[in-house]
Amino acid sequence: MQLRCQYCLEIFGGKACLTPRFSIKSRRIILDRILSVDLPIVYHENYIAPLPSGHRFPMAKFRMLQEMLLADGVASPAQLRTPELLPQSSIELVHDRDYVRAYCDGTLDVKAQRRIGLPWSPALAHRTCIALAGTVLTAKLALECGLACNTAGGTHHAFPSFGSGFCIFNDLAIASRLLQKIGLVRKVLIVDLDVHQGDGTAVIFQNDSSVFTFSMHCEVNFPGTKQNSDLDVALPVGMEDDEYLQTLDKYLPDLLSNVKPDLVLYDAGADTHFGDKLGKLALTDTGLFRREMQVLTACLAGGYPVACVIGGGYCDDLNGLVYRHSLLHRAASQAYRQYRL
Ligand SMILES: [Zn+2]
Repeated sequence: MQLRCQYCLEIFGGKACLTPRFSIKSRRIILDRILSVDLPIVYHENYIAPLPSGHRFPMAKFRMLQEMLLADGVASPAQLRTPELLPQSSIELVHDRDYVRAYCDGTLDVKAQRRIGLPWSPALAHRTCIALAGTVLTAKLALECGLACNTAGGTHHAFPSFGSGFCIFNDLAIASRLLQKIGLVRKVLIVDLDVHQGDGTAVIFQNDSSVFTFSMHCEVNFPGTKQNSDLDVALPVGMEDDEYLQTLDKYLPDLLSNVKPDLVLYDAGADTHFGDKLGKLALTDTGLFRREMQVLTACLAGGYPVACVIGGGYCDDLNGLVYRHSLLHRAASQAYRQYRL
């Protein structure tokens, strides 16, 4: 005789209940554990907002990334988690109230809009808020599960009172401050390996020793004026895989054991790739995958939870670009299984 429970049937499509002798509450706890054996990946359909045709920001990549992860079997639909909008007060933990209101209302002046580089629309304002909520959810899931990945995020050029370089609100900073405020973490380490310096993040935390900012970026690149992170490693133009990975290895393990963070926020910008339009480094696909494994295993082996965001990536070949971003999720899935999180 096959005993079935409605809860299992819904999830496992008619397979026998695994725990018929337990109460419904116990079954739920057990099944939730079973369901969490795979890496949590955060996505929302509103990560995409329409832009004028020909705009150089590759907005379509966020949907394509989620589609590629499902099509290639890197993720199953059950792994996808959906963020919900946060109250505006969460954004104001980092950003000036006037700036937040002006941006959300669409009343930011033209000069400030131009510095952001994305034309304002209600859909873009909503996209901005749901994407940063995605990073906050990713950070919470990382604390629960050890590792989690967003399919957007890494808006590290956003300063407290203005946006810049396609970045409006700083998701890394908001996630750090919000999780600190609700008592989930004390010390955060931000590992920013996007090809561009995390200048906004550096300024936000310049007088805050509870969040350590590490940025490894190309020295000759946007932003023209660099800020002071807690640790900046500026790389020469054209650096290739081996040298890059050796440089990273020189800093990251020591940083982890010195900072001892409760959470690592990892900005895995794919614009370090040799084919990137706005980057000036020369990593290959293999180099990017090795980098993600290097970061993730360094953190997980030390017992530090990691929340990942995809960061920048710019290329006319959107399929190639999306594949580069997906290397983060491919590596994270492998690391997740390796460490049986
Ligand atoms: Zn970048």
